[in-house]
Amino acid sequence: IKILAIESSCDETSAALAVNGKVLNNIVATQSVHENYGGVVPELASRAHQQNIVPVVDQALKNAAISPEEISAVAFTRGPGLMGALLVGASFAKGLALALDVPLIEVNHMQAHILAHFIDDPKPKFPFLCLTVSGGHTQIVLVKSFMDMEVVGETQDDAVGEAFDKVAKMMGLGYPGGPMVDKLAQQGNADAFSFPESEMAGLNYSFSGIKTAVLYFLRDKLKENENFIEENKADLAASIQKTLINMLLQKLRKAARKYRVNQLAIAGGVSANSGLRNRLTEMAVEEGWKVFIPAFEYCTDNAGMIAMAGHYKFLEGVFVDQSVSALPRMKF
Ligand code: ATP
Ligand code: MG
Ligand code: FE
Repeated sequence: IKILAIESSCDETSAALAVNGKVLNNIVATQSVHENYGGVVPELASRAHQQNIVPVVDQALKNAAISPEEISAVAFTRGPGLMGALLVGASFAKGLALALDVPLIEVNHMQAHILAHFIDDPKPKFPFLCLTVSGGHTQIVLVKSFMDMEVVGETQDDAVGEAFDKVAKMMGLGYPGGPMVDKLAQQGNADAFSFPESEMAGLNYSFSGIKTAVLYFLRDKLKENENFIEENKADLAASIQKTLINMLLQKLRKAARKYRVNQLAIAGGVSANSGLRNRLTEMAVEEGWKVFIPAFEYCTDNAGMIAMAGHYKFLEGVFVDQSVSALPRMKF
């Protein structure tokens, strides 16, 4: 079974090949145009996908030494994501599947982030809980099988990745800010400043409060000392990051106890965060969990995870026809 997968939900154009459930490669073209704007500009993302998609797919095929005629099915990200960006991948996948006369497989991007755990060993066993933390989502998912997943908690406003990016922007760190906050935090004192953790009912999250708290905190401090951010960069990053991680993991622990699950996974772009990885590993010892942390390459957007999801759908014979279109708000 040879699955060609395409990912184009946001600002990464990616293609990958999976042969019998083994991901052979993962070609990712990251769009740098957005750096000048401090965020992803949808219109520019679509245009860049349009330019990147042919070379990226071509490279994935060449790299795997597989000719288009050998492909069993084409999998693509149907959603969630940016409409114009998704359309490029969806249209390309549909055209290719039609030309090659092979089945077409739609993939939910958030489920694929979770299935990234099945690319390499060790692999979690069902049921497990996955904390999916990315630029657009923050969810606790009860994963019952490759295709049966239930969101048991999620953010009611901003995603945690968005909180990282916005805080980074306030500190003048550029885009995307998450990795820069992470890097600075490694040299800072996480107890230097304290920020309020918002309390949400059940297993839900809210990250808009901390963003506002940081905004006002910085505004007041800058009035006293205009170099405040510059002089306290690392401590600020460490303190804010610690607050965000605490919020994430408290609910995850609550979910693990509620569902009596001891296999815990993290997925999505923010799962690349070293502070989150470290704290989760510590908590695993305290709680007796087995934790699964994806390789960096498979944390942020990539087609490897789409190929993995496509493989399982192929095994189940779950295909879509040519009338399929992108779904920016696709649910599970
Ligand atoms: P979604 O998957 O919800 O559609 P997305 O595709 O934009 O959103 P990803 O590419 O999975 O999200 O993740 C991008 C996010 O991950 C950004 O917000 C980025 O700042 C954040 N991120 C990446 N690396 C780190 C890190 N080391 N620490 C914190 N955040 C990080
Ligand atoms: Mg991205
Ligand atoms: Fe993503």
